[in-house]
Amino acid sequence: MHTLAFGLPRLGEKRQYKTLLERFWQKKTSEADLLTGMETLEAERLNTYKTHVSIYPSGELSFYDPMLDVAVAVRLIPSRFQPYTGWESYFQMARGASALEMTKWFNTNYHYLVPEWEEVPLTAQPDFFLQAYALAQKLGHTSAWPSLIGPYTFLALSKKEGRPLSPDEIEKYAEKLLPAYRGLLEALQKAGAPAFLLHEPAFVLDEVPVPLVGYIYHHLAGLPIYLLTYYESVDFYPRLVELPVKGISLDFVSNTANRQALSQYGFPEDKVLIAGVIDGRNVWRANLKEKIREVESLSKIAREVWLAPSAPLSFLPLTKAPETHIPAAVWERLSFAKEKLAELRTLAAALQGDAQAQAEAAASEALWQGQPLGFHEPTRARVAALKENDFTRSVPYAERSRLQQEKLQLPPLPTTTIGSFPQTEDLRALRKAYREGKVPPEEYKAQIRQRIAEVIRFQEELALDVLVHGEFERSDMVEFFAERLEGFAITQQGWVLSYGSRVYRAPIIYGDVWRPQPMTVEEIRYAQSLTAKPVKGMLTGPVTILNWSYAPPNKSREEVAYQIALAILDEVQDLERAGIQIIQIDEPAFREGAPLKKRDWPEYFRWAVRAFRLASNAQPTTQIHSHMCYSEFESILPYIWEMDFDVVSIEASRSKGTLVEEFRRFPQWDRQIGLGVYDIHSPAIPTRETIAQVIEAARKVLPDKLLWVNPDCGLKTRRWEEVRPALIHMVEAAQAARTQVLS
Ligand code: GLN
Ligand code: ZN
Repeated sequence: MHTLAFGLPRLGEKRQYKTLLERFWQKKTSEADLLTGMETLEAERLNTYKTHVSIYPSGELSFYDPMLDVAVAVRLIPSRFQPYTGWESYFQMARGASALEMTKWFNTNYHYLVPEWEEVPLTAQPDFFLQAYALAQKLGHTSAWPSLIGPYTFLALSKKEGRPLSPDEIEKYAEKLLPAYRGLLEALQKAGAPAFLLHEPAFVLDEVPVPLVGYIYHHLAGLPIYLLTYYESVDFYPRLVELPVKGISLDFVSNTANRQALSQYGFPEDKVLIAGVIDGRNVWRANLKEKIREVESLSKIAREVWLAPSAPLSFLPLTKAPETHIPAAVWERLSFAKEKLAELRTLAAALQGDAQAQAEAAASEALWQGQPLGFHEPTRARVAALKENDFTRSVPYAERSRLQQEKLQLPPLPTTTIGSFPQTEDLRALRKAYREGKVPPEEYKAQIRQRIAEVIRFQEELALDVLVHGEFERSDMVEFFAERLEGFAITQQGWVLSYGSRVYRAPIIYGDVWRPQPMTVEEIRYAQSLTAKPVKGMLTGPVTILNWSYAPPNKSREEVAYQIALAILDEVQDLERAGIQIIQIDEPAFREGAPLKKRDWPEYFRWAVRAFRLASNAQPTTQIHSHMCYSEFESILPYIWEMDFDVVSIEASRSKGTLVEEFRRFPQWDRQIGLGVYDIHSPAIPTRETIAQVIEAARKVLPDKLLWVNPDCGLKTRRWEEVRPALIHMVEAAQAARTQVLS
C-alpha cells in the first residue's frame, strides 16, 4: 500500500530557510550560497519523506511562494518586472517596492503572492522545477514527483487590475495558460519525471466552473497527473472522478461529504484514490484504529487506495521533538508534520498486518479514551449553564450610547488609536531579557510602567480624546493571553511560515480554557491613574484567540469559543471594577475563521457573534469597542452589526470605497465607527489634507454622531518618528472637522 505525503514545512528544523533567505536579501551571502543552502535543506527534506512514505513531491522547496513559482515558470511576469532577470526578478515580484499583492491562502494563516494577469506572452520556463527534479534524481529519490499548483487553482486565485478574474476571464486566460503549463509538464517528463502532483485546492470552493475544469484537464490529458484536493470536500464529485487523471486525493477529515459521495457514486476502476485520512490541519495524533477501519471501508469501494494527509503539512510545526516545556500528557498526544509522516507509515504497516504497527494503532486509540486533556469541571458547567441573556446586554444600544456619553462627555469625532505604540528594538530586547530570566520581574515591571507613563503623556500632549496604554508588555496579541489562560500550551520551536521568510507560533489549545487570575488589569489601572481622560482596556476577542490557535481535539469550536469568551468576560468585569469605562475587544481574525463554502457561513457566524457578545456583556455604561482588520468586511457587515458593540474600528485602507458603499446598502447601521483615516502599514506620513479628505468622505455616508477618527490599525510596527507627526496631523484634521460639525 502506497503512502503519499506533501507539504512538509520548508522552514527546516533550525529555521534554516529563514536564515538562508534573509542573509541573501541582506547581501550577507551570495546567490551561490543561497542555492547550495537550499539544496542541503531540500536533501534533508527528501530524506525525511523517504524514511516515512513511498511517494513524495519534488519542487516543493519554493524560494518564496509556490504560486509565484508557477507564475514565473509560465512567465506570467508583469511588465514592470521586465528590467530584472533571474532571482532578482523573482524576489522583486515577491518583495520588491512594487511586489505582487499578497493575500491569505484559503482558510490558513499563510499568505500567497497573487499572480497578476497582463497581456504578456506566456511560455514554459521550467528551470526551477527541472533543477529540483534533477537534484532529487541525483540523490536517488526515484519516487519524488514534481509537485505544482494546478492550473485551475492558479487561475482562480489570480487577479487582474486588483480584482479576481471573472468567469469569462478565467476562460480566456486558461487558453493562454494551458500551452505554457503543458510545456512545463512535458519538459519535466522529458527529464524523466514519471508522474505529477497537481494541487487543486480551489476545487473545494463554491461554484467551481466544472465545464472549464473539464476543459483544462482534457487539455492536459495523456500526462500522468495525480490531483490533490484538500481543505474541504468537493461539490462536483461525479464530474471530478471523470477527469482524465491517474489519481485523486480527497479530504476525508474536514467533513463527511466526500465519504458520502464516494459511497453514493463509487470510484472509477482506472484511478487511484488518495485517501486524505490523517488530519493535515491540526496538531493531534490520530486514533489509528479508527483510521484502519476507515481505510478498510474505502478499500471496498476503490480498487487502489493510497494513504495521505488530508491537507499539506505546511502549516504545522515541523516536529514536536525539541519541545521540552509542554506538559507530558499533552506532548504525548501531539503530532506535528514529521510525526504525521510517521503516523502514515504506521497506518500503512498496520493495514498490511504488521503486528508492531497494529499494537501502536491500538495504543493510539487508548490515548483518546478516558478523561479529556485539561478537563475543568467548573468551566464546563459554566458553559452548560449559559442562558440567552448571557449573550445580550441588558440595555439596547440607543440607550447605552446615551448613558455612556453622559459619563464620557466626548467631543464630536473623537480621536483615538488602536492600542499598540511602537515596539522598538530596546523594548523587544527588554522583553527577551525578562523571558530569559536576565531581568528580574520587579525591574521589568518598572520599565514597562515607565513606558506606559511616557505614552500617556505623549497622547495627552497630542490631545487625543481616548487614550491607550500602548501594549508594551505584549509581543503578540494572542500569545499574550494564551500564556495567561489555562488550557493552552506554548511551543518553543513551533514556528510556521506566514509568508516569505516570516514565521509565527500559534498557541495550542489542549484543554478547557479558563482564567486563573486577571491578565491586564494592573497595566491598564496604572495607565488610567495617570490621566483624567479615559484609557481603553485592551483585550483580544475569543474568536481571534481561537482562530489563531490550534483547536483542541474532540471538541466543537463553538464550545471552545464560549470558554474563551467567559475568560475574557471575567477580565472585562475586573476592568470595570478597576474603574475602566471603555474596553476594546479586538477581533481581527473574526472574518477569517469563516468556512470556505458560503453556505456554511451562517452557522459559523451564529456562534462567532455569540462568543463575542458573551465576552463583551459589560455594564450598559461601559463602552465596548472592537477592532477588525486584514480582511474584506463588505460581505459580512450584517454579522458585524449583530456583535452589538458600541464602537468599532475597521481597517479599510485597501477597500475603503466599497466599504463605504456597503454602508449605504445597510441602513440599519447605527453603531459608532472609526474608519481608519490613514494606512499604518506604510511608513509614509499622511498629511493633514489627506486625512481631512477621508473624514469628509466618511461624513458623506454616515452621520457625524457615529464617527470616530483613528489610524486603521495598531502602531506597533511603526517608528516613533513616523507616529508622532502622523497623529499630530490626525488630531488637527479631526479638530478642524469638529468645528464644522459644531457650527
Ligand atoms: N490592539 C492591537 C494593536 O493595536 C490590534 C492589533 C491588530 O489589529 N492586529 O496592536
Ligand atoms: Zn488591526
